[in-house]
Amino acid sequence: MARLTKKGIWEGIIREFRDFLPEISDDAITTLKEGNTPLIEATNLRDIFGDIRLLLKYEGLNPTGSFKDRGMTMAVSKAREEGAKAVMCASTGNTSAAAAAYAAKAGMKAFVLVPEGQIALGKLSQAIMHGSLVLQIKGNFDEALRIVKEITKDYPVTLVNSINPYRIEGQKTAAFEVCEHLGHAPTYHFLPVGNAGNITAYWKGYKEYEAKGLISNLPKMMGFQAEGAAPIVVGHPIENPQTIATAIKIGNPASWEAAVAAKNESGGVIDAVTDDEIIEAYKLLAAREGVFCEPASAASVAGAIKMKKEGVLADGDTVVCTLTGHGLKDPDRAISSSAKPVKVAADIKKILKVMGF
Ligand SMILES: *Cc1c(COP(=O)(O)O)cnc(C)c1O
Repeated sequence: MARLTKKGIWEGIIREFRDFLPEISDDAITTLKEGNTPLIEATNLRDIFGDIRLLLKYEGLNPTGSFKDRGMTMAVSKAREEGAKAVMCASTGNTSAAAAAYAAKAGMKAFVLVPEGQIALGKLSQAIMHGSLVLQIKGNFDEALRIVKEITKDYPVTLVNSINPYRIEGQKTAAFEVCEHLGHAPTYHFLPVGNAGNITAYWKGYKEYEAKGLISNLPKMMGFQAEGAAPIVVGHPIENPQTIATAIKIGNPASWEAAVAAKNESGGVIDAVTDDEIIEAYKLLAAREGVFCEPASAASVAGAIKMKKEGVLADGDTVVCTLTGHGLKDPDRAISSSAKPVKVAADIKKILKVMGF
């Protein structure tokens, strides 16, 4: 039941949800037709979830392979409308990929600041291919963001991290799509939490749909950080965050307070899952549901599994987990966490034997 234009062609989130977004002139709209991602029923996990209805919002199917496109179409379009010639962001990878692609589409320059050696291969190749200037710093995401804030304050470059309010505006449209698809809001909405912009955006989206009378219930917002990078859970910034889930390896989230407000207002939780739990969910989704997401994305499902085990979720609940990015972003992690391919001679008999015949 996705919203489609008269011609049945999806026009990207700005044109599809214009009534809910800041005004923008038509000729500034920069879109790669992001949004309209599938909400996939997880039909093979009944042994874990029983009679809970589990759905996966597969944001890896956005144009650059992550939900960051929703915010970036809005942020870059607005920057273009304001006459900006360049954008800049700090990134754990996906923001830089999206910024680079949308800046290319807008004919603008993109500068991206990333922590050296900590960007998944797919994301780095995107930022480079889309023609951004990639600057690798010896420092983590939090330091990169601090530098970008300083530079964009003084120079004619627009900051497109999620502290740019247009990013949140664009990202909230994912909540609209969930409501359109289900015909109501879910009971629980699980998300990985890094810089905490996305949980802030979904909550804003759900509240706006409720205020317009388009849904009559609100979900409990369930944010999950990685245990070694869980500042909101422990209640103070983490100097040196550690996790294999690089997209949420953040020690001092920019939208900290908004994320806590989303949790409190909705009656949800912000909790942590271990790297082992993240990898287990990551592999489970790929092997049993046919859905390949990146490790950080799987923190949402790892969180849902944890909440099920703790008796928080009940039969009949509708649970949506956002899978924030595509698994192909991080091929190194996929290969290192899986069984090696079997080497075999080009010989039918030997191959059949390995196949178990
Ligand atoms: C950016 C990102 C996150 C974290 O989202 P925040 O809005 O920073 O909390 C999670 N997963 C992936 C794949 C991301 O790219």
